[in-house]
Amino acid sequence: MFDLFKIGFLTVTFADLIDIFLVTFIIYKLYTYLKKTIAAQIFVGLMIILFLSFVAQAMNLKVLNWLLRLVTDIWVIAFVILFQPEIRRLLVVVARNPIFKLFIKTESLQSAEIITEAAFELSQKQHGALMVVVKSTGIRGYTETGEIMNARLSASLLETIFFPRSPMHDGAVIINNNIIEASRCTLPLSTTTQVNGQGLGMRHRAGLGISEQADVISVIVSEETGSISIAEDGQLYKGLSKETLKNKLTKAFKTPTSRGWRRIFEQYFKEK
Ligand code: ATP
Ligand code: MG
Repeated sequence: MFDLFKIGFLTVTFADLIDIFLVTFIIYKLYTYLKKTIAAQIFVGLMIILFLSFVAQAMNLKVLNWLLRLVTDIWVIAFVILFQPEIRRLLVVVARNPIFKLFIKTESLQSAEIITEAAFELSQKQHGALMVVVKSTGIRGYTETGEIMNARLSASLLETIFFPRSPMHDGAVIINNNIIEASRCTLPLSTTTQVNGQGLGMRHRAGLGISEQADVISVIVSEETGSISIAEDGQLYKGLSKETLKNKLTKAFKTPTSRGWRRIFEQYFKEK
C-alpha cells in the first residue's frame, strides 16, 4: 500500500496505521471490558508475556524465546480456563442472535404482568423470592440443579412456590417465556458482596451471579425488607416500582428485532 512517511529506515504505510489503530482499539476495549475483575490482572500478565516475547524475538534472544514459546504453546488452554466466565458471557452475547427469536412465539405482556403481580404480592407478605427470567439462551445447566416443573406460569403458582413453609420455596425459579421450567435451583454466587455500601445476602448475590453469566433478568424479593430488586447484565437495581419492574420485564420478553444487533454491539463495547 501507499507509503505515508519514513522514520529513518522505517517506511510507514497506511496499512500500518490501520494495524496499530486496530490493535490499540482491541486491547483498550478488552481492558475496559475486564476492568475491575480478577481477569484484569491476568490480562496485564498476558500483556507482559506478549511484550516479552516480542522483545525476545526482535533481539533474537534464543533461550528466552524458547521459554516463552513453552508458555505460549499452552496459551490457548490457559486462556480458556482463566477467562472461562468472561468467555461464557461473550458467547452468550454472540448466541443472542435475533434471527432465532423471530421464530419463537412470546406471550411477553402477560408473562411480564404475571411476574410483576407475583413479585408485589410476595413483597407485601415479606416472602423472599428469586425468579430468573430467561431472555434468549436457556440456562439448562442451572435448571437441572433444581426440580424440573415445566408448568404454565401463573402468579398464584409463583406465590405458592415461595410460601415460606412450602418445600419448594428455597432457591430460584427459572422462567422461560410463559413456562416455569424449574424451582429450587442453585445459582452461582456473584463475587460482589456490597452494592452502594450495603452488604448483599445470598439471595441477592445468587440473582446477581446468574445475570453475570447468562442473558437473564433476576427478580429478587427480599424477605427482610420486602423490597424488590432486579439484576441484569451484572448490575443490581434496588427498590423498583411496579411500573419499572413491568417495563423491564416486558422489554426482556420482547422479540428483539428492534434491539437486535445494536444491542449486541453495545454489549460488546459497553464500558463497565
Ligand atoms: P433477604 O433480603 O431475603 O434476606 P438476602 O440477600 O439477605 O435476602 P439471605 O437472607 O442470605 O439473602 O437468603 C437466603 C436464601 O437465599 C436462601 O434461603 C435461599 O433460598 C436463597 N439462596 C441462597 N443461596 C442461593 C443460591 N446459590 N442459589 C439460589 N438461591 C440461593
Ligand atoms: Mg438476609
